[in-house]
Amino acid sequence: MTEGNDRETAARNAPSKVTLITGGGRGIGAACALLAAQRGHAVAVSYRDNKGAAGGVVRAIEQSGGRAIAIRADVASESDVLEMFAAVDSELGRVTALVNNAGIVAPARRVDQYDLDRLQRVFATNVIGSFLCAREAVRRMSTRHGGGGGAIVNVSSAASRLGSPNEYVDYAASKGAIDTMTIGLAKEVAAEGIRVNAIRPGLIYTDIHASGGESGRVERLKDMVPMRRGGTPEEVANAVLWLMSDEASYLTGALVDVSGGR
Ligand code: NAP
Repeated sequence: MTEGNDRETAARNAPSKVTLITGGGRGIGAACALLAAQRGHAVAVSYRDNKGAAGGVVRAIEQSGGRAIAIRADVASESDVLEMFAAVDSELGRVTALVNNAGIVAPARRVDQYDLDRLQRVFATNVIGSFLCAREAVRRMSTRHGGGGGAIVNVSSAASRLGSPNEYVDYAASKGAIDTMTIGLAKEVAAEGIRVNAIRPGLIYTDIHASGGESGRVERLKDMVPMRRGGTPEEVANAVLWLMSDEASYLTGALVDVSGGR
């Protein structure tokens, strides 16, 4: 077979929906990866440390007949992000959707107790990481760059409007930056075939609360939620997949609360 034929075969076999989910090995990202695969997307699952969890999501997708790869990349590292997108390009094809999901909290503290290292880690992961991934996605999706369009869903947080006093004001502010990025980038690329939206989850049962020092945080706070319960990663994933889909074809720049009314 000639090289030209090889390229044609590869193009015919390239999946039509290629979705990259940062932090797709655990929690909300894992639920998004599994649901995207169920809906026919080829899925790239990125992780920073937990190779086993990301590998488990990939295996589950493959066992159900789907296509997935796991990629190690710290979203706060520009070289890691460049390599991650290059791996998606070569293994799955040009990305058509990005879920900017990777995010962290630092242990619950008042602002007067923060050190510089904490602030740098939170903002580098949650804000700079999301910008770097959005940049690479736009370079591939935008009609201005020869792409065929696509969707970006940023995972913000209800914290961006609540402020998270005495716990994570830095985290809340980083999600405020994500809300603003969503609005600005949505307008910037709206005429280039890309929709950019955000979801703002409330209290969701994942490991993130343990990483902030309180594994039972959702149980402690759930009675403050108008619906009187925490949410599941699957409930968040449903909203993410809807925002990515053609059913949301006239939505861009939207901040969708998935928070039980909180
Ligand atoms: P989680 O269970 O702690 O999972 C976080 C994921 O992000 C993990 O897969 C982790 O990778 C990945 N990650 C962290 N830092 C990273 C980095 N520098 N580079 C690449 N990947 C990184 O958290 P979650 O609750 O599912 O949170 C997912 C998103 O939802 C976050 O943006 C969070 O702020 C947001 N959110 C969560 C809640 C909630 O109540 N759970 C509420 C509002 C918003 P490893 O697996 O390799 O560690």
